[in-house]
Amino acid sequence: MAAAMARLGTESAFAVLARAEALRRAGHDIINLGIGAPDFRTPHHIVAAGQKALADGYHFYTPAKGLLDVREAVRDDVAMRRGVVVDVETIMLVPGGKPTMFFAIQMFGEPGAEIMYPNPGFPIYESMISYTGATPVPVELREDHAFGFDAERVLGQITDRTRLLIVNSPANPTGGVIDEPSLRQLAKGLADHPHVAILSDEIYSRVVYDGVLHASLLAHPELRDRLIMLDGWSKTYSMTGWRLGYGIWPAAFIDDAERLQINSNSCASAAVQVAGAAALRGPQDDVETMVEAFERRRQLIVDGLNSLPGVTCVMPGGAFYAFANITGTGIGSAEMEERLLTEAGVAVIAGTSFGAFGEGFLRLSYAAAPENIERAINRMAQLLS
Ligand code: PLP
Repeated sequence: MAAAMARLGTESAFAVLARAEALRRAGHDIINLGIGAPDFRTPHHIVAAGQKALADGYHFYTPAKGLLDVREAVRDDVAMRRGVVVDVETIMLVPGGKPTMFFAIQMFGEPGAEIMYPNPGFPIYESMISYTGATPVPVELREDHAFGFDAERVLGQITDRTRLLIVNSPANPTGGVIDEPSLRQLAKGLADHPHVAILSDEIYSRVVYDGVLHASLLAHPELRDRLIMLDGWSKTYSMTGWRLGYGIWPAAFIDDAERLQINSNSCASAAVQVAGAAALRGPQDDVETMVEAFERRRQLIVDGLNSLPGVTCVMPGGAFYAFANITGTGIGSAEMEERLLTEAGVAVIAGTSFGAFGEGFLRLSYAAAPENIERAINRMAQLLS
């Protein structure tokens, strides 16, 4: 095998999911707070649109960038929510959120190049950067800054070799949200570094709390010629298994992104694209109901975690993860993940699965029924006492 394969990491949430399922099949009662998927059904009108599309004959290849009508739906949604009108020719539909990051990192990563990424952060960033042979440069996200963003510090880490800067807000695994003034400061500072492209992962753009509106880097026109924005349907419409996402690319990169798509996926599934347009154009009440439910569960889990001996947890501003500090328990992240699963029947993810700066933390997904969150906290209390 190619040496690069040894550098490819993984997303251990899938391994924990498999272990939790195996334990459940063996008769154990497992509460799963591991995987990052909403626990709601995809809204009915979206499912119906997908079924109808199949019945209507959407079972062929589409243009590599996606059906024009669906890209127009994305353009209109982006215009409404981010206040920016983009050219439909710069939008590419892909199977899920991941392909846009996969393509962006492949486009810029090679030996000698540096790519900056959030740590703790979504594990695929570091994995893919290493795979390309580029040097992963972690941007440490700190609990004492509510896992927010220090634009000056980030700008200070840029070197002549930096090719790509990855930004993720709202963030996995910390739930941190980057506010508009920090994004503005970053955009302003990047003017001094015209050689750096930016990947803004905004897959949780609709999952923000406390009445805050999502702030997008796309709203900064001075970055438009080097900003790739990633979003998708997985989290917003509870469509993780449908596999649909999109990238908005700078005009200068879109043809290369399209070639990567043609070399890999060809296109996103035709009927799924049609369902995706129905999601964007249809009623949004289900999204609001889901986010309101997450907001209530957020309070429940954060209060519960803060009541545990040796555990503290800051209030996340977005996404559906609590990132709990467990240093007071004297137990490391990986051991705690293992013991919670095997001794307490609670599946969570060790902070170290999201990078070295995740040591001392656990990620708990609160996209779970409130009674299961309460039961999980009780089991954790028992284990820790
Ligand atoms: N980006 C972040 C920050 C995520 O947390 C995830 C999924 O958990 C993705 C991208 C990938 O989303 P998808 O499942 O649509 O590929």
